[in-house]
Amino acid sequence: MDSRAQFLKQITEAGGVPGYEGDVRAIIRERLAGLTTIEQDKMGSLICRKAGTSESPRVMLAGHMDEIGFMVRQITDKGFVKFVPLGGWWDQVLLAQHVIIKTSQGDVWGLLGAKPPHILPADERNKVVEKKDMYIDVGATSKAEIEALGIRPGDPIIPVCDFRILAGGQTYLSKAWDDRLGCALFVEAIEELAQSTHPNTVYGVGTVQEEVGVRGATTSVRVVDPDVAIILEVDIAGDVPGIKEEDSTIALGQGPTLLVYDARMIPNLALRDLVIETAQELGIPLQLSLMTGGATDGAAIHIHAVGVPTVVIGVPARHIHSHASIIHRQDYDQALQLLVAVVTKLDAETVRGLT
Ligand SMILES: [Zn+2]
Repeated sequence: MDSRAQFLKQITEAGGVPGYEGDVRAIIRERLAGLTTIEQDKMGSLICRKAGTSESPRVMLAGHMDEIGFMVRQITDKGFVKFVPLGGWWDQVLLAQHVIIKTSQGDVWGLLGAKPPHILPADERNKVVEKKDMYIDVGATSKAEIEALGIRPGDPIIPVCDFRILAGGQTYLSKAWDDRLGCALFVEAIEELAQSTHPNTVYGVGTVQEEVGVRGATTSVRVVDPDVAIILEVDIAGDVPGIKEEDSTIALGQGPTLLVYDARMIPNLALRDLVIETAQELGIPLQLSLMTGGATDGAAIHIHAVGVPTVVIGVPARHIHSHASIIHRQDYDQALQLLVAVVTKLDAETVRGLT
């Protein structure tokens, strides 16, 4: 495993559901401490400032630190944990998955309980169990045992999935690519920019609470007050059985993506074209993507103040919003290369020309 794969393992395996991003924040802080000034807004988003040869333009690179997960809702009399989802989960991907409940007394492992088919009546076998009827089994046999473990309402619950390198080394399986991959991209971009010069000041921002409604982006953009913004996100790969070409043409290993439309943002067109031209110059394939049923931190950032020219650069991932998803290393490497090249072009005159 090279140092980049090791960093991706470290940052995806860290637990950080919305509102509980501290472990991810610590990893980014440690990594950028010598290269940037670091501050936090009052919601917990991390703002890492790297000055180039000019104070302005102010370039915001945003990745969200939170991942989808759950929170303890209540403990049943028989010793099971009921939960609320944090972020968008599809009921079908949940049963029999492993989780860790973070309590004030330490980590507690659990399993999303599932009825064995033997005892299911025929009509129930074909039905999807709804989240509200699910529970977590931590192996306790009474409420007292659960209380002794320190589990309380409000404790965060993290999906479990170890990082694995697949398919001869090209693809990576882990949890939380959405959006640790975006965090890793701005961290590594700042590290690369520190080796050369850039005609602007870069703000790498790890936002909080994106998955529950782009809350951290809404506050952190006020601290940065950017002139231009690039959102770094996963994109939905459609190269798996059952996804029609009309729903997604995005494929793993075919390059980074540029989001030309989502439910809450239309990108700045001149900035979009600058990204497309830069990819062409570098010989990087770029996949143009549309997401009709979702949004990114760009939703809040692009309408800050009188508007901020914003684009979303993505890396395709299969199976997002489940316990585990898969990305292609080359797509990540090319997204990073493209990001650094675009940021290097964003001088005052270029940014003035975007609007
Ligand atoms: Zn995301």
